[in-house]
Amino acid sequence: MAETKYIFVTGGVVSSLGKGIISSSIGKLLQARGYNITIQKFDPYINIDPGTLNPYEHGECYVTTDGMETDLDLGHYERFTGIQTTKANSLTTGRIYKAVIDKERRGDYLGKTIQVVPHITDEIKRNVKLLGQKYHYDFVITEIGGTVGDIESTPFLEAIRQLKWELGKNALSVHLTYVPYLKAAGELKTKPTQHSVKELQSIGIQPDVLVLRTEKHLKDDVLHKVASFCNVDFDCVIQSEDLPSIYEVPVNMQNQGLDVAILKKMGLEVKETPTLGPWKSFLERRNRAKEEVHIGLVGKYDLQDAYKSIRESLSQAGTYNDHKTVLTFINSEKVTEDNVAEMLKGQDGIVICPGFGQRGIEGKLVAAHYTRTHDIPTFGICLGMQMMVIEFARNVLGYDDANSREMDEKTEHNVIDIMEEQKNITNMGGTMRLGAYECQLKQDSRVFNIYRQEFIQERHRHRFEFNTAFIKEFEKAGMMCVGKNPESNLVEVVEIPGLKWYIGTQFHPEYQSTVLKPHPLFVDFIKTAIQNQKK
Ligand code: GLN
Repeated sequence: MAETKYIFVTGGVVSSLGKGIISSSIGKLLQARGYNITIQKFDPYINIDPGTLNPYEHGECYVTTDGMETDLDLGHYERFTGIQTTKANSLTTGRIYKAVIDKERRGDYLGKTIQVVPHITDEIKRNVKLLGQKYHYDFVITEIGGTVGDIESTPFLEAIRQLKWELGKNALSVHLTYVPYLKAAGELKTKPTQHSVKELQSIGIQPDVLVLRTEKHLKDDVLHKVASFCNVDFDCVIQSEDLPSIYEVPVNMQNQGLDVAILKKMGLEVKETPTLGPWKSFLERRNRAKEEVHIGLVGKYDLQDAYKSIRESLSQAGTYNDHKTVLTFINSEKVTEDNVAEMLKGQDGIVICPGFGQRGIEGKLVAAHYTRTHDIPTFGICLGMQMMVIEFARNVLGYDDANSREMDEKTEHNVIDIMEEQKNITNMGGTMRLGAYECQLKQDSRVFNIYRQEFIQERHRHRFEFNTAFIKEFEKAGMMCVGKNPESNLVEVVEIPGLKWYIGTQFHPEYQSTVLKPHPLFVDFIKTAIQNQKK
C-alpha cells in the first residue's frame, strides 16, 4: 500500500468507554488482513508524560522499550497487536506545547506570533504524520484521550479536521459513544449520541464510523435511527455490547464488519475475512478453563488500573495454564504480623507489587517474610523485589535496620541503594532508569530455565537497585543474584533456589506479556501456584 492511511478515534458522551480497546481491536483486525499498523495516543493534559502522575489519577504508567512513560492504553495496543510502541506513540498537550515553545526560543519561527492555530495544530499534525512518513505504516491509528466537548481536546480535534480535509479518503474518523438504557422507561436512548456527533460536526468533523457502547443489544431500528440522524452509513454504525472479556472485542467487531466498513470508506479492496485463528484459540482456551488459581496482589493502590499490566499478564498466564486467574487485591497498608496468615489465606501465589515511597511497605515486608517462611510461590516486581531483599537482610542476615535508601537515607545496611547515575538528578520527570536493558541470566538458575535463554531484554522504571556490596553475603545465605546487566553489573533478578517459586525482578516483565505471547515468568509462576494448590 503506497500511502499511509490515518484513522482517528474519538469518544463522546462519557469517558471510560474503552477507546483504547476499540483502537486496539481496529489495529488487530487490520493487522490480520496483512497491513502494517501502529497505534498512537494523544492525551490532552498538560503533564509532559504520566510519569509523575499519581496512579490514583491515571492508573498504571506503561513503559515503552525506548523508555517513554506512557498512558496505560499503550499496554492494550501492545497486548492486542504485539507491536512495539515508542516515544512517538504517546503525546500529551504538554509535550506538544513544549516542542513549540522550544522552537520559539530557538528562533525557528522567525519573529512570528505563536498561536494555537496554526502552530500547536501543526505540531500535532506533524506528530501524527511522522509515524506514517518515518516508519511507512499502512495504517496509523490515533486515539484522542478525553471526551469531545472538553476544552482541552479542542486543538487535537481541530488538527483532525484539517488532516481529514488534507488527506481526503486517506483519513477516517471513528467516534465512540454511549447508548444508555433507562430502566424506568425500558428504553435505549440515542439522544446523547446524536448530541455528541453534533458537537463533532460543529467543529467540522463528520464521523465516518460510529461505535455505540451499550449494555443491551441494539436492534436494527435503533442503528438505523442513529445512522440517519448522524449522517453515517448504516453499515458504519457498529455496536459494542458489554462482553465477558476485553479480548472478545476484536472478534465481536469483526463479526459486525467494523474492519470492512473502514476499508470500504477508505477505498480499499475488501478481501477474504481473516480467520483470527490463534486469537480465537486463545479465547476458546480461556472460556474452557473452569478451575481457578488464586493470586493475591500485595500493593497499596486500591484501584484496578494501577496494576493493569500485571493483572493482564497473570490473567493471560492463567489461560495458558488452562485455569481462570482470580485476583485479590491485598492492601499492604493493612497487612501486619498478626493478620498476615488470615489476609493471605486461600491464595495459591502472591505478587508483591511495584511502587514508590514509604506508604504500605511494612505490609509488603511482612508478606514477603510470610510467603518465604511458608514456601508460598511469590513474585516480587521492582519495589516488590526490593522488599524481598530487605526482608531477607533483616530476618536472615540479621540486619534489623536493613532498608532502601529511598525509605531511610541513613541506614548502615542500605541493601537497596540509589543508582550512581541517579545521585545528582533533581528533576523528577522522565529521569528514572527507563526502558529496555539487557540482562544476563546465570545458567542453571530457575529463571534461566524459565526463559531458556542467557540474554534477555526487559523494561525498567526505577531509581534504586540492589547494593552489590552485599551480593556475597546474600548468596552465602541462600538468596542468589541470578540476573545481571552485563555492562553495569546491576542486579536484575534474585531468587531463592530451595523454595517453590521465590523470584524478584528489578525489571517489569508485565510490560512485555501479550495475548499471543504470554510472558514465560508469569506462565511459570501461575503453573507453580497451581501445583502448590494441588498439594
Ligand atoms: N521505588 C523503587 C525505585 O525507584 C521501585 C520502583 C518501582 O517499583 N517501579 O527503585
